[in-house]
This record gives sequence, C-alpha cells and structure tokens, in this order.
Amino acid sequence: MKVEGCAYCGDKSEFPHGKFVTALPMSDVYLFGEQSCPGRCIVACNKHVNDITDLTDEERNAFFADVVKVSRAIQEIFHPGKVNYGAYNDNGTHLHVHVVPKYKDGFEWGTTFTMNAGRVSLDDVDAEGMLKSLREKLG
Ligand SMILES: [Zn+2]
Repeated sequence: MKVEGCAYCGDKSEFPHGKFVTALPMSDVYLFGEQSCPGRCIVACNKHVNDITDLTDEERNAFFADVVKVSRAIQEIFHPGKVNYGAYNDNGTHLHVHVVPKYKDGFEWGTTFTMNAGRVSLDDVDAEGMLKSLREKLG
C-alpha cells in the first residue's frame, strides 16, 4: 500500500532525505542526505506501516535481514568503529531505520547521533562513489 504525500511511498528518485541506493526484499535503501557520519543510510520498509509491530513476523524478519545486510555493507566499505541504529517516527507514519556508522574520534563518537546535523551534504562528499560501492555490496 502506498500513501499519498508520504516521502517514503513516493517516487524514489525524488526522495527528499537522500539518494536511492537499491531495493531489497522488504525495503528501499537510501544514502542519507546528511553525511557527518560517512556512509549513513536509511532502510525504509517497502510497505507503509507505522511501526515494527504492524509487520507480520515474516515481514519483520525480512525487514531486519535487510537492515543487517545494509549494516554489513557499510561496515565492509567504510570501516566504522560502530554502527548505530535509530527508528524514530514521531512526525511520520512510515517505518524506517537510520543506519549510522560512527567513527572513533569522529563526529559524535560516544554519544547519540543527531537526526540531521546540517554539516555535510551529499554535495560535499563523493556521493556517486558511495552509491556505487553500496550497490556493488547490496546487489
Ligand atoms: Zn509511506
């Protein structure tokens, strides 16, 4: 089910919070538009549900398998010290998880990541190179 006006249900090429990477079995993957933590991605459920608890057990398992696949790709490509995960949805109704690589001695290491730090845009990084590497790992 697609919901009119939902950024995650809309045209992937016009996603307002990043660039489309690829589609996985239960999700659409985006390179996040703010890259203070290089390699940060969003894994958005490809079904419009508000919460993890709205998925069937099979859907939930498939969705988290996608999250793990993206995290592994990020770890292999970017070699962060740790990957943080965030599923926030106060102002939205479409389940998605932020997969945020954190780097020792890097931005916000040792604390909770900022939702949108507004420091590093996709124009400031090699977004095309990142997309290429992620697509190669994610298939
Ligand atoms: Zn939606």
